[in-house]
Amino acid sequence: MVQELRVLFLAAEAEPFVKVGGLADVAGGLPRALSRIGVDIRPCMPLHATIDRSQFSLDKLATVEIDRKGLALKATVYECIVNEVRFWLIDGDPVRAAPGVYGDVERDADKYAFTCVAALQACEALEWIPDIVHANDWHMAAAVMYLASVRRKGRVWRDTHSIYTIHNLPYMGAGAQPILGAYGLQPQSSPSVPEALLEMPMTQGILQADWISTVSPNYAREITTAEFGAGLDPLLLERHQHLSGILNGIDLDIWDPSTDRALAQPFNPSNIAARESNKRALQAKLGLELDPRIALVGLVTRLDHQKGVDLLWPALNGLSIDAWQLVLLGTGDDQLERICKEQAAEFHNRVRVVLQFDPELARLIYGGSDMLVIPSRYEPCGLTQMIAMRYGSVPIVRATGGLADTVLDVDHSDKGNGFIFKGYNPSELRVALNRALTCYQSPDRWQEIQRNGMQVDFSWAHAASAYQELYRQTSTLDVS
Ligand code: ADP
Repeated sequence: MVQELRVLFLAAEAEPFVKVGGLADVAGGLPRALSRIGVDIRPCMPLHATIDRSQFSLDKLATVEIDRKGLALKATVYECIVNEVRFWLIDGDPVRAAPGVYGDVERDADKYAFTCVAALQACEALEWIPDIVHANDWHMAAAVMYLASVRRKGRVWRDTHSIYTIHNLPYMGAGAQPILGAYGLQPQSSPSVPEALLEMPMTQGILQADWISTVSPNYAREITTAEFGAGLDPLLLERHQHLSGILNGIDLDIWDPSTDRALAQPFNPSNIAARESNKRALQAKLGLELDPRIALVGLVTRLDHQKGVDLLWPALNGLSIDAWQLVLLGTGDDQLERICKEQAAEFHNRVRVVLQFDPELARLIYGGSDMLVIPSRYEPCGLTQMIAMRYGSVPIVRATGGLADTVLDVDHSDKGNGFIFKGYNPSELRVALNRALTCYQSPDRWQEIQRNGMQVDFSWAHAASAYQELYRQTSTLDVS
């Protein structure tokens, strides 16, 4: 029998334990899909203090001692099995000192470096040595660095290879550098990297990993250019033969409009008309005029510079069709929150802004809005356009990163499922909104577009096979 591939998978957040953004969807959904096709995968993360322990059954698996600058720190590794996937959750002083998933960068760096080292040491203690260490984003780059150092030293890790996945390149972990040193993790040098970026965890993950991946084919190309490379484009270009883009999926059991209890009325592609009850429920909940003919536009987003919400407000002025309403659900940057509030007051008769993290409302927006706008400056993959399509809300997106890989413009394809604009400016977004609002006036055509979106298979199955293949290939690379 072929030996199952063993994979230690490290990410800062994962469903169902804790979620801040799309990484949690990925670290919940991908391991599950991989485990279904026979990969022995252990997703691993800190036992963040914000995780509600009473919801999960945690079994103590191992205790290891980590050296941080000569100080011995105790790490306890718990196992929690969810949907037959064996998650590892790691506890210890650095984890408790940084309660949120993301906060103060030095404390976060300490928590994540500690988790990485503890996870690899636990593998040794349990005599479960993975074929692949798969680390995600700057937080977990320490796992790649640690593997590189132990692989040089001894036999135990000789055959293990590393994959480093970039979910968001500009977040490099600035400020984390001294902490890595405290755990004995050494930076590698490279003439292709500006000195200021060299020791950042993101850079070191890219430099020291055996293979690099990112979350869409288009973003994999984009990050080798100066516009999207955030200063690491020369390095990424140099390593392009070891760089691939695999499109994320969504968990079709978690995102299922035919069973979603947050909806007023479940529906599927053969009864799209039932969505109208959800739109009505959404309009009623937000105190908007109850009229099915008014196009209801949604946004579900982190309020971050990346997400391009600043394009939205000027684009709304001077739309050619007046029958529209808008709801924005988001949290994040203080200044962006303040601007959103001001704009909601400006358009008080038709715009609602909800500055919360509210998964239930997010679901009602996906299932009740007519369109979902995603005007991102850059978007490594983006999940909300896929969720929106599955829920019959038509995406209006900027042609960047994974948005360009997942949305087909209705004017360019028979299978068109959304509206795309290219340039990062309000007038191009306004043109796309106008096209969508005009199209919305033709209900039969609109339903066809909705159905096209609902029928796309965004399951994790495709990504899982692609990662399995990548694991196989990477595990045979000669790195001696
Ligand atoms: P990112 O990871 O950059 O935030 P993605 O599109 O990859 O963006 O994933 C966003 C995920 O977070 C989606 O599952 C979306 O529904 C969810 N989300 C974002 N903001 C909110 C919010 N305010 N309330 C509830 N869910 C949200």
